[in-house]
Amino acid sequence: DPVASLEHVTVAYGATKALDDLTLDIASGEIIGVIGESGAGKSTLLALLDAAQHPTSGRVRILGTDPAALRDREIRELRRRIGMVFQGFNLLSNRTVRQNVALPLKLQRAVDPQHVESLLDYVGLADRADHYPAQLSGGQQQRVAIARALVTRPGLLLADEPTSALDTRTTEGILQLLSDARRDFGTTVVLVTHELEAVGAICDRVAVLERGVLQRVFPVVRADYGR
Ligand code: ADP
Ligand code: ADP
Repeated sequence: DPVASLEHVTVAYGATKALDDLTLDIASGEIIGVIGESGAGKSTLLALLDAAQHPTSGRVRILGTDPAALRDREIRELRRRIGMVFQGFNLLSNRTVRQNVALPLKLQRAVDPQHVESLLDYVGLADRADHYPAQLSGGQQQRVAIARALVTRPGLLLADEPTSALDTRTTEGILQLLSDARRDFGTTVVLVTHELEAVGAICDRVAVLERGVLQRVFPVVRADYGR
């Protein structure tokens, strides 16, 4: 079964259609890129996949359920199974690296210090566990954010322009980390980006959005990463 699927989904704001009759399956274990200009509907698509928003019409299924049919508490439970990574990292500045990574587990009363340590190690920041975000580079902060997103073993990882604030070298490392997570944990990744190199580097498929319309979905032939 797909991890998520959208069937004839439209999201309308008055006369504006942020998404217009979009049909798309996201397969388990794939990395799918989503590209499109500003206003194309990328954020709206992520909000649907994060069960933060419902479509005006059409059907959405995420991790086996229809969010529109869930109660608020069930929506919160579903959203705990979805990891999010943002352009601006969104770390808590008054918490250490370790506390940031541990937070999702703490909120679920599923504290697992060993798992937290192993993820800090996985993203290469075990020696920075007691530092605060401001003491880290942008790339290191994004690694913390990815560790935090992975700590709940999410069935779906949504990455919203995760490398747009980073330089080229750092970008490569972050893309490699997302690709590794898919390889090592089977994590399904939706990568929204305006950076075509990112798409070519790690994605299996790319969806092209234009003014709310899914213009095409094409496979990516990859040269190096992700094997
Ligand atoms: P992108 O993330 O690709 O820039 P968005 O999903 O943010 O695109 O927006 C798609 C379209 O929907 C745009 O025309 C935007 O102005 C419109 N839109 C998005 N959110 C709202 C909203 N809350 N109210 C009105 N229009 C919106
Ligand atoms: P183990 O059975 O020892 O946990 P795994 O191969 O399942 O071995 O995991 C190796 C490491 O990766 C462990 O530290 C585990 O906590 C972590 N891990 C496993 N699955 C995931 C996942 N889906 N997301 C994030 N981390 C994971």
